[in-house]
Amino acid sequence: MLHLEKSTTAFNKAKTLMPGGVNSPVRSYARVHCTPPFIAYAKGSHIYDIDGNAYIDYVGSWGPMIAGHAHPRVVKALHDAVERGTSYGAPTTIESDLAEMVRYLYPSIEKIRMVNSGTEATMSALRVARGFTGRNKIIKFIGCYHGHGDSLLVKAGSGLATFGCPDSPGITPGTAADTIALPYNDIPTFQKTMRTLGNSVAAVIVEPIAGNMGLILPQEGFLQTLREVTKTYGTVLIFDEVMCGFRCNLRGAQDMYHILPDMTCLGKIIGGGLPVAAYGGRADIMHCVSPEGPVYQAGTLSGNPLAMTAGLETLKIITEDPCYIPKTTALTTLLVDGLKTAAAAAGISLCAHQAGTMFSIFFSKNAVIDYEGAAAADQTMFCKYFLAMLAQGIYLPPSQFETCFVSGTHTDIDIHTTIEASRTAFQKAAQ
Ligand SMILES: *Cc1c(COP(=O)(O)O)cnc(C)c1O
Repeated sequence: MLHLEKSTTAFNKAKTLMPGGVNSPVRSYARVHCTPPFIAYAKGSHIYDIDGNAYIDYVGSWGPMIAGHAHPRVVKALHDAVERGTSYGAPTTIESDLAEMVRYLYPSIEKIRMVNSGTEATMSALRVARGFTGRNKIIKFIGCYHGHGDSLLVKAGSGLATFGCPDSPGITPGTAADTIALPYNDIPTFQKTMRTLGNSVAAVIVEPIAGNMGLILPQEGFLQTLREVTKTYGTVLIFDEVMCGFRCNLRGAQDMYHILPDMTCLGKIIGGGLPVAAYGGRADIMHCVSPEGPVYQAGTLSGNPLAMTAGLETLKIITEDPCYIPKTTALTTLLVDGLKTAAAAAGISLCAHQAGTMFSIFFSKNAVIDYEGAAAADQTMFCKYFLAMLAQGIYLPPSQFETCFVSGTHTDIDIHTTIEASRTAFQKAAQ
């Protein structure tokens, strides 16, 4: 049995200070009816709470920690950087070093702008797409999360889905009216919508591998259709690879599916655990961005030297060894196969999805290809499974609508321990 006394005290205090006791809703554990462990430190594949519990971590700070926690090279690089000052608000060479590295891995990004969060990246990319096309409307897909920018917070999966609010109050009807939300993987509906509205749509934004309604892969032809149709109408195609970038594969979904978007948003791994994100794309589109062009977008701490350092060192770690992502992917496959076998042994119908180093499971008999399918999965079973895993020292995201992440520091032993724990957890979930 898990002891969370200190975490409970800390959480009670936090609740008097912050809404729900947290600075981001997904951390609250409200839907799994448990106190969230308060974290003391983390190292490699493990995370440790203030009550002294150790966990094998599959949250990885919601994606960034591909190289594991407190990687010695990242820690050293940050130590060295902090001695030189934490921020100047002036250009540094490390910004270009990171930009160059990203452009090398994502050739569709001819020019890039660094920002501080994925939210900022997607918000800015949309503004640029609107400025570039002179159009207002955007198309997004139901269950895809693109940060909490107003026009993107319509049918946005993840945290909203977890807390049962499909849309957020506080968004003006005008803003919401410019956002068209269509079902993910539904090719005919997209084609039909573009036939009527195509000429007024500035951008189509999509998670090319959806990770914010659980992990859902694009069906055959879906991304191709987005590419072809947007080209026909002069609409900007934006791939939001904030989560899947560097993770489904080093060069992202655009490389995996051989489809080049006009613009790309990156985040999470690109900052190696510090707040960094980026948007970029075709040079003619990025030419609109201030100070080259009229579309304004700025940031006091954008390209911050500490953040750039953590991102660059992390990208070096995962690129220098060409086997880094393939090895971590193989480990993820081992885990997913083990989970499937354990679920079958407990008589549970499970849908397990994987893309490189990310995976998720749905307690569902039917195939899950969109938000409707994800929402129909058995959340009560998920909750029982989650709590049983936590009690055995396995730290998973506390929602059926989130994706799990494996790092290069997870070991075979970690994976086997997790599969063993899942045998018990699936049995509990089946009860
Ligand atoms: C996490 C995420 C975002 C938002 O990034 P933040 O840094 O949390 O603002 C945007 N898009 C996708 C696909 C994400 O997974």
